[in-house]
Amino acid sequence: MQNLEAFKTLISTPKKVVITTHHKPDADALGSSLGLAEYLKMKGHDVTVITPTDYADFLTWMKGNDQVIVYDEGNEEESCQLIKEADIIFCLDFSSLQRINGLGDKVTEAQCVKVLIDHHLEPEDFADFQMWSTDAAATAELIYDLIHMLGDESLISKDMAEALYAGIMTDTGGFKHSNTTRHVFRVCGELVDKGADAAKVSKLVYDTNSLDKLKFLGYALSERLTVMPELNTAYFAISTEDLEQFRSRTGDTEGLVNYALSIEGIKFAALMIDRTDVVKISFRSVGGFSANEFARKHFEGGGHKNAAGGKSDLSLEETVDKFKQLLNEYKNELSNPINTYA
Ligand code: 5GP
Ligand code: MN
Repeated sequence: MQNLEAFKTLISTPKKVVITTHHKPDADALGSSLGLAEYLKMKGHDVTVITPTDYADFLTWMKGNDQVIVYDEGNEEESCQLIKEADIIFCLDFSSLQRINGLGDKVTEAQCVKVLIDHHLEPEDFADFQMWSTDAAATAELIYDLIHMLGDESLISKDMAEALYAGIMTDTGGFKHSNTTRHVFRVCGELVDKGADAAKVSKLVYDTNSLDKLKFLGYALSERLTVMPELNTAYFAISTEDLEQFRSRTGDTEGLVNYALSIEGIKFAALMIDRTDVVKISFRSVGGFSANEFARKHFEGGGHKNAAGGKSDLSLEETVDKFKQLLNEYKNELSNPINTYA
C-alpha cells in the first residue's frame, strides 16, 4: 500500500464504506471483499459489499454473504445511494472500472476516497490509494498483507480466514499454478493458524457439484471440445442451447477451460460461451504464451499472463472463426514443441 500512514489515518475513525468487486465474482473477488468487510466492521466502520452481478452457489457459505447487495437484481437505486453516501469505496480484484458494469460509472462519479486492491495487469489510474501487485497470486493474499501491515492480524477470525483462504486456493488453481509462491504458503499457514479449515473450504468450493453440472461437463468434453494439435491449442464453444439443456447456473462453467489446457502438449486453451447478449471468453496458457496479451489485443479483455478473459459481440460461430484465424498469427509461438516453463 502506497502512503500506508495516510491510509492508517483514513481508517482510524469510523467511515461509511462500500466494497465492490468484478462482474460474476469468483472466490477471490468475493472472499477478499467479505474478508475485508469483516475486518473493517471490527474496526468500527459501517460496511456494505455491492457486487455488480450474482455469483456461484458454492460461494454463499462465506460469512456476510446474506448482506451482500447484488446491483443488477433490482438494487440499482439502493446501490447508487450507498455509493453516493460512502466516505470510502474499495475496489477489489479488478483493474478497470469497465469490469463492474453499470456500477463503474457510479464509482467514477463518486467524490469520495477510492482504494484499489488488485493483482491484475495494467491497472486503470483512478484510485487515491492503491495496493497493487501482479506478484500476488490473489487479491485475498493482498488483503492479508494489508491487515498484517496494519498490525491487526489478531483481528483475523476463523470466518475471515476461510474467506481469504478460498480466494487464494482458487486463484492458484488449488495451489497448482506458477503463482503458488512461498509467500502463498506462508499466508495460508497463517490463515490455518487463525482457524481456516482447508479441507472444509476445498469441499465447499470444489466438491459441491450438481448432477446437471457434471453431466454438462461430460457433454462439453465429448461434444464441444476441439483440439488443434498443430497449434498446441484446444477450445470449447458452448451455445445458449447447451446451457439451457443442462440448466446451467452461475458458476457451472467455471474451471471448464482448464480441462482443455490439461491435455498433454496443449499450451493455449479457450472457452467461448454464448451468453446471448455477448460471447464471453476465458483464455488460459502455460509457459511463455501470454493469454493476457491475446485477450487485450483481440477480445477487449485482459487479466493475468496465463489466465485472462474477454468478450466478443460477434455470433458464437463468428467468434470461433475469428479465434482460429488469429491463431495463425501466433503459429510460430504456438507450434514450437512444448517448453512449458520457458
Ligand atoms: P475467467 O476466465 O476465470 O473469467 O478470468 C480469468 C482472469 O481474467 C481473471 O483474473 C479475471 O478477473 C480476468 N478477466 C476475465 N474476464 C475479463 C475481461 O473481460 N476483462 C479483463 N480485463 N479481465 C478479465
Ligand atoms: Mn483474483
